[in-house]
Amino acid sequence: MSDAEADVSVDDYGLREACGLFGCVANARGGVPSDLDVSHTLHMGLVGVQHRGQESAGIVTSFGTPNAPFCIKKCMGLVNNAFCDEDLKKLRGNIGIGHTRYSTQGDSDHVNIQPFVVETLQGRIAVAHNGELVNAKSLKKRLLLHGVGLSTGSDSELLTQLLTHQPECGEPNGADWLGRIKKVMGEASISYSLLIMLSDRVYAVRDPYGNRPLCLGKLLPASAFGKHYEKKQYSDNELDGWVVSSESCAFNAVGAVYYREVLPGEVVEITSQGFKSKLIVERPKGKLPAFCFFEYVYFARPDSLFEGQMVYTVRKRCGKQLAMEAPVEADLVSTVPDSATPAAIEYAHMLGIPFENVLCKNTYVGRTFIQPTTRLRQLGVAKKFGPLFENLDGKRIVLIDDSIVRGNTMGSIVRLLKRSGAKEVHIRVASPPIKYPCYMGINVPTREELIANLKTVEEIREYVGADSLHYLSIEGLLQAVEEGLDKTKPSGHCVACLTGNYPVTPEW
Ligand code: SF4
Repeated sequence: MSDAEADVSVDDYGLREACGLFGCVANARGGVPSDLDVSHTLHMGLVGVQHRGQESAGIVTSFGTPNAPFCIKKCMGLVNNAFCDEDLKKLRGNIGIGHTRYSTQGDSDHVNIQPFVVETLQGRIAVAHNGELVNAKSLKKRLLLHGVGLSTGSDSELLTQLLTHQPECGEPNGADWLGRIKKVMGEASISYSLLIMLSDRVYAVRDPYGNRPLCLGKLLPASAFGKHYEKKQYSDNELDGWVVSSESCAFNAVGAVYYREVLPGEVVEITSQGFKSKLIVERPKGKLPAFCFFEYVYFARPDSLFEGQMVYTVRKRCGKQLAMEAPVEADLVSTVPDSATPAAIEYAHMLGIPFENVLCKNTYVGRTFIQPTTRLRQLGVAKKFGPLFENLDGKRIVLIDDSIVRGNTMGSIVRLLKRSGAKEVHIRVASPPIKYPCYMGINVPTREELIANLKTVEEIREYVGADSLHYLSIEGLLQAVEEGLDKTKPSGHCVACLTGNYPVTPEW
């Protein structure tokens, strides 16, 4: 094994999500806004979607009235490091949007922190984006040909500028923002969930394929959290306001309850008077939605709801399918923490094998650097996981993981377990082999780096040093994802990184 192969930095560990969005609008009862603390609500909401992006965070607020000024604060780092109490006090207003970023396009630096804010003839707009445009190159060319300068390499800035450069939409007098959004959705079909803020409203937008998630929540009044739990239905008028988030897991911490998803192709307008669905942009005939299956398998928090089902439940069903497809005799079933844990619990349950932890994760490792010495490089995954050696000594272990990307991390884990006393290590992967890159907001390595593109399953088993290796089949994955869906609603899932069949042909 070369030094490079032995170096397993945390950055090599897996796939990376592109971003998290959170927005909030206070209700106005009788024209008076509720006393909702919008900036603290946004801050807590962004903490709730922190797992979707850890490079930088930004919040923009306004007063919810036409032509009101914007308050802006953006910073590199985690949400809790980016904002102090003083910052939140200065972020005044009754409406706001926020963003946590992981870069797939554009550098990881201050100019790329979202939301992007630009001045237009009709006032300022702020835009927060999760996703990646598959036709960014040609859209960029169109803007540059029209004399529009771009200051970053980010396609989120591109989207913002596209919104402002739609000359036929309401110029010179009006501000036909819905018209602008519709035009942009016609030009850029995938991939984006967007929050667009004007001084008096927030638009929540999902691309026509619904590739990235976005959902609405109701902010309950403070009285709903009194000493005695009351199962009461609140009318829209009684609410403190509305929230919109990449994931519903962020709602609990801000006192909100899940309402519904923003539908693929839908534009929802949220003001102090409530929310209205304003527009649905259709997909080309015969095309199904293409919600990213990796949200279920890996990215999302297990307590989030997508398409009416909890992510944790879908992960358990992946474990059930895996047990049916690839059982093995073993003393215990375990997991590479944390996203594969529900699948491992169900795999163990199905086969009647005890579930036990064999790895303790150090959640404080964070980003690591290329290690300067061979000794440090060879420590590999030991920087991130400690073996629970008394649990694994002399045992035949089934280790469940959610995915194998490059294979070097799994190889290090198998070596770590065997060095710590495991008799056998059988790998079961709760998703199918990843063979193709993603062009829609997920940082998947190139084809040359994806181990499943380079080697057969048997060669991968040999490479990682496992006693056996099986992946969940694509049919098994789709069965697990689709079992809990409402069959009366149109649904469809992107599995392009498994099959190479992209919902929209990307620009190469
Ligand atoms: S290619 Fe893979 S990671 Fe990208 S959106 Fe499709 S399923 Fe998700």
